[in-house]
Amino acid sequence: MLVVMQEGASEAQTENVIDRLVEMGFTVHRSTGVRHTVLGGVGPLDDFDPAELEALNGVKECHRIVSPYKLASRSFNPAGTVIRVGKVEIGGPAVVTMAGPCSVESEEQIEACAEIVASGGASVIRGGAFKPRSSPYSFQGMGEAGLRILRNAADRHGLLVVSEVMDQVQIPLLLEYSDLLQVGARNMQNFNLLRELGKVRKPILLKRGIAATVEELLLSAEYIMSGGNYQVILCERGIRTFETSTRNTMDISAIPVLQRLTHLPVVADPSHGTGKRDYVLPMARAAVAAGADGLLVEVHPDPDRAVSDGAQTLRPEQFREMMRETGAIARVLGRSLPGE
Ligand code: PEP
Ligand code: MN
Repeated sequence: MLVVMQEGASEAQTENVIDRLVEMGFTVHRSTGVRHTVLGGVGPLDDFDPAELEALNGVKECHRIVSPYKLASRSFNPAGTVIRVGKVEIGGPAVVTMAGPCSVESEEQIEACAEIVASGGASVIRGGAFKPRSSPYSFQGMGEAGLRILRNAADRHGLLVVSEVMDQVQIPLLLEYSDLLQVGARNMQNFNLLRELGKVRKPILLKRGIAATVEELLLSAEYIMSGGNYQVILCERGIRTFETSTRNTMDISAIPVLQRLTHLPVVADPSHGTGKRDYVLPMARAAVAAGADGLLVEVHPDPDRAVSDGAQTLRPEQFREMMRETGAIARVLGRSLPGE
């Protein structure tokens, strides 16, 4: 940890900060510069709040050098983590696509989706059976019946299933029907849920909260990992900014930032990231070009009639085009699509 004293900070102020650091258990290394005195603290404490030291008189800024997350940190597994589910590897050379409707609506809809998803070259079918809706009056999902429909269609088409878990009580159902459990943006900081997911032994697709920093996303991954479940896949899905021309602002730069900070695989969701289907393809291309290990996209046989998120849902031909173009980009980067 580093504390930079203000220019002109008095000796008494500096000594007060040193005393405080010693009280906190740090060994202090002092460097007295022409303008600034810098105090380097080496110690056992990781969970202190730098803002507390910044509030002391004479302190200009305080920086934590050791990251607040350990298991999620790149240094924990510098080579990168590959998550294997069945024959699919997420975080390996292949760019993995997870696609399907926002919500499971009916058996016919999911059968048609599974056909589109599998024939387009994706590996995982997505679909919400428990839906986090902004309004309590909107469709809330089909529950277990929806999960069963997804599982059956996935098995017929050789696909894996990813579906959202909104609450601890739903975990057993999700474990029964789904290969990967999605934690939605609204639940990224539902710490009780994250702790429970630390006990499961299936991969968790953890979506970035709508106003979460990269560090907060990694701390949420740490919650899951600290419970013993190391299979966490991070998902950039756009964040809320002042911009209104898209539903969210797709933070493409989070992809290389995350890949520097963590060993966990990173996928991108340009559907929620933009909110408009015509922007999904360019953002999918950008995400793969930026190094994403996979894509999560919404596709529906008839998006104009989708019960949720139709505006951002790809038409089947748009999905096929996305698979072609992102596959070409993956190959340029020395990556591939699954099965190549
Ligand atoms: C979804 O994937 O349909 C969803 C609700 O996503 P998010 O949690 O990112 O809004
Ligand atoms: Mn959706």
